[in-house]
Amino acid sequence: MASLKSRIHRYRYWRFLLLPALFMLLSLWPLQRLAERYYTNELLEQNRQTLDLYVANLLGTLRRYEVLPNILGDLPVLRALLDHPQDASAVNQANQLLAQLRERSGSDVIYLMSAEGQTLAASNWEHPDHFIGRNFSFRPYFQQAMTGQRAQFFGLGTTSSKRGYYFGAAIRDAERVIGVLVVKIDLDHTETLWGHTPEQLAVTDSFGVVILTSRPDWRFSATRPLSETEYEQIRLHRPYPTTEPSQLTWSSDTWLIQSRELNQIGWTVRILAPVRQVERSVHTVVAVGGATVLVLLLWLSLLLQRRRHLMERLALDAQARRDLELRVQERTCDLEALNTRLKEEVLEREHAQQELVQAQDELLQAGKLSALGTMSASISHELNQPLAAIRSYADNARVLLDHQRVEDARTNLGSISELTARMASIIAHLKAFARRDPHIPERVALQPALEDSLSLLAARCQSLNLELIREIPEVTLWVQAGETRLRQVLTNVLTNALDALEELPASAPRTLWISTERQRNRVVVCIRDNGPGFTPQSLQRALEPFFTTKAHAEGLGLGLAICDSLIRSLGGILHLANHPEGGACIRISLRCAAPDTDFSDKEPS
Ligand code: ADP
Repeated sequence: MASLKSRIHRYRYWRFLLLPALFMLLSLWPLQRLAERYYTNELLEQNRQTLDLYVANLLGTLRRYEVLPNILGDLPVLRALLDHPQDASAVNQANQLLAQLRERSGSDVIYLMSAEGQTLAASNWEHPDHFIGRNFSFRPYFQQAMTGQRAQFFGLGTTSSKRGYYFGAAIRDAERVIGVLVVKIDLDHTETLWGHTPEQLAVTDSFGVVILTSRPDWRFSATRPLSETEYEQIRLHRPYPTTEPSQLTWSSDTWLIQSRELNQIGWTVRILAPVRQVERSVHTVVAVGGATVLVLLLWLSLLLQRRRHLMERLALDAQARRDLELRVQERTCDLEALNTRLKEEVLEREHAQQELVQAQDELLQAGKLSALGTMSASISHELNQPLAAIRSYADNARVLLDHQRVEDARTNLGSISELTARMASIIAHLKAFARRDPHIPERVALQPALEDSLSLLAARCQSLNLELIREIPEVTLWVQAGETRLRQVLTNVLTNALDALEELPASAPRTLWISTERQRNRVVVCIRDNGPGFTPQSLQRALEPFFTTKAHAEGLGLGLAICDSLIRSLGGILHLANHPEGGACIRISLRCAAPDTDFSDKEPS
């Protein structure tokens, strides 16, 4: 599924890229056209200047010699020869002069012809192929000069085979033409001037035949079809080495042609620049353009690719976010369900706790009642004893009153009053013991509570003949407790100690230690006896309800369990242990109460 998606993505990506690619490639075509036009114009401009230069040079060369035959024709030496053509010295003088003039003018040959076209004297008289004696009457320049026209002619030298331009002028005696003076200029050098450039030079004459060119293979080729008359003229005047010039065509696909007409002499000068010269530059431009397009395309593709990656990453991020949100939602649902369950459980626990508290309360009450039952013997003993004493004091008082011993009777009545007060105190303690006690800790003085418990057990202590060792400070120790609860705990622990001491043989010394100690913000009451101590099992289980090692009638196994619960409800700790020297050692650790604790809600006694 994911791969199909990514394939679709990639297809879209390439389609997106194809359009600009096509556009960029298409933009290369106008670029090519532009470059073509630019480079063609540049080349044409450059060649136009070259053409102008060349034409100026060519025309300058020709014009320099144009008037020379006219001027030289008046020279007396030449006229003298024309008058006496057979005179050897005249011929010699004329030859000498013409040779000198040629050298000075820089022309190729200067020669003098008779009115019949016979060469009488020539500057090249010393050369083996000199012109003297030769007849050039067939040449147009001779015929033109003879008829009084401007005598100009391009042609190949019939003896020298060198291309030249001939200027002729008639020499007249009055109106009669007596001879013709001809100056031939060498045009070969104008060709060699061109040099080796890609552009080619082609000068065509009035027949359209190439007479000067930088390409030897083009020389003397006709650039247009020749008419029969023109062929005849060529055959007659023999300007070229051949009478039938071959045909030459310049294709516009290969050459860029610029031409200039030289109307005076009927020539056309052309510069032919190879089209491939422009093509090369155009190709370079197109290649650079193509490379730029390619770079642009690559850059574009890179951009697109980066954009695609970004989109993919964003999509992945969005997906991950959605997944996370979904997971969070699921988790929230789970947590809500858990929370509801927990609430239910809390409710259940609270309910159970309430039930437990109620059960503990019931248990406590049961424990108290059981303790009352256990203590009933000593209570009846405690109350019977003062009752018996009261009775005997009352009997005695009656006897004493009978004997008028009023003072003694008053003393007895006083004793009776004291004993009733003591009995009231005992009953008050029992009442307090049996009452249900609110579980709020309050400030209680430790020493009076201890005294109360001991006084409750005083008769038993006496009967056991035990030694009581107290290590209690004078200053009142205030603890966080409940008046009744603390008394109940102390009485219970002391009763257990007495029970343990009772188990000792009658002759064995019995000792009970009661001490207190301060531990930072706590007061610890330590009640130790030298009885048999806890058995390992009772040490482990003594705090369990209904655990007892005593005979059924004596113990219910609730005492320490209730004490532990009471002490814990007061924020204290009940700790059971055996003393290293034998006997049990019970430590009751209670929180200290600040002396300024409010007593307003002190429980009623
Ligand atoms: P009861 O006194 O009814 O047996 P308690 O909970 O008060 O119940 O005591 C549990 C048990 O702990 C006793 O049966 C006894 O075995 C043991 N015990 C308590 N105090 C002492 C002590 N001072 N010396 C030895 N054993 C003790």
